[in-house]
Amino acid sequence: MPKFNDNKVYKCSFCGKLDKQVKRLIQGPGVYICDACVRLCNDILENDVKEETIPVANLPKPKKIKSILDQYIIGQDDAKQTLSVAAYNHYKRIGQKNQAEEDVEFQKSNIMMIGPTGSGKTLFAQTLAKILNVPLAIVDANALTETGYVGENVEDILLALINSANGDINRAERGIIYIDEVDKIARKPGTTRDISGEGVQQALLKIIEGTRVNVPIPSSIHQQMQEMVSINTKDILFICGGAFNDLETVIEARAKGGRLGFGANVTSKNEKDIGKILKEVMPDDLVKFGLIPEFVGRLPIIVTLDALDETALIKILTEPKNALVKQYQKMLEMDAHELTFDNGALRAIAREAIQRNTGARGLRSIIERVIKEIMFNVPSIDADTYCIIDENVVTGKTEPVIRSKTSKTLKSN
Ligand code: ADP
Repeated sequence: MPKFNDNKVYKCSFCGKLDKQVKRLIQGPGVYICDACVRLCNDILENDVKEETIPVANLPKPKKIKSILDQYIIGQDDAKQTLSVAAYNHYKRIGQKNQAEEDVEFQKSNIMMIGPTGSGKTLFAQTLAKILNVPLAIVDANALTETGYVGENVEDILLALINSANGDINRAERGIIYIDEVDKIARKPGTTRDISGEGVQQALLKIIEGTRVNVPIPSSIHQQMQEMVSINTKDILFICGGAFNDLETVIEARAKGGRLGFGANVTSKNEKDIGKILKEVMPDDLVKFGLIPEFVGRLPIIVTLDALDETALIKILTEPKNALVKQYQKMLEMDAHELTFDNGALRAIAREAIQRNTGARGLRSIIERVIKEIMFNVPSIDADTYCIIDENVVTGKTEPVIRSKTSKTLKSN
């Protein structure tokens, strides 16, 4: 069906398709463009805009970065400060390179985060990426060991970053890659041969150092474009993380009889002692732990995270913007119901998480278990209700009681 009121045949001046073959053909002075070409041009322009938003000019200063981290992450003050500076310098360095000739050459400073499970390592990477408005890929070094196909896996990491950047290679090239569980690819102390772990370290080293990698892109991302994209990793910020269990004994062995003055009895150490010892970590300790020197050399900024104690876990439950207690309260509030966790309940949840040894990671599943019934029953109750969760409910000694706001018990599960 012709789109114009005459019998002439019109076609898109860009792709050459006839007016019959397209949904819309828009006329300009002596030219025509079809809807598909308009959309393509939009995509191209959108990518240009994205490129401009790379945080160089409006880069938040370290203090600002830390103050935003404070809204989401409890404690870990040293780590917050170090990471704020490291991230700021990294993106400032990228900006610097784009300016006129400089007499100082900045080297990339990737980061190693050492801290127990559930202490906030991944959360740091996620929050930094959000603050800096850069794409983030989170990968597990353990998975790289399992398949054994090292080359493919390294490309997979980059593909994850490209996906996180919605296919925008420019943005991906300035993104953050968080590699979790790097301690699991260490050579085991005492053995000289652990091919898989060392092989993965070597493969990671290449991309961390900065290289150009061809990544096969599934067609869903770039439908009409090439299947291989080339990505340069030199400006990607790499953050590696791991729990590094028993690293403290390596540090102590180095410091034995030396200036650090740690107690001699390793077995009696509590989390606080271990945290204190870990703060003294040196690159050589990581080499002794089983990381290859070149790999350690590429991660010059070492940050340690503390194990979270009961007080910190209670704060995590209640204080951050996205605190779990706030989330569940809000959910019920939408149906006009009130939910309260008293102090005893919060303490009991924190204690259970410590027992499980999963840090803050275990908090959600504990709360989920405690309020499962409430979340199921309460939304169906017509009257406005309130429910107080106390220690006995958390420990399973009593069932939660739901009352109407007029104090009459509605349902006891
Ligand atoms: P890790 O990577 O160290 O094992 P995560 O960052 O994955 O731990 O933490 C798991 C969850 O626990 C996070 O999503 C977050 O909700 C919570 N969490 C952990 N540490 C903190 C912290 N310091 N402050 C606030 N929440 C935290």
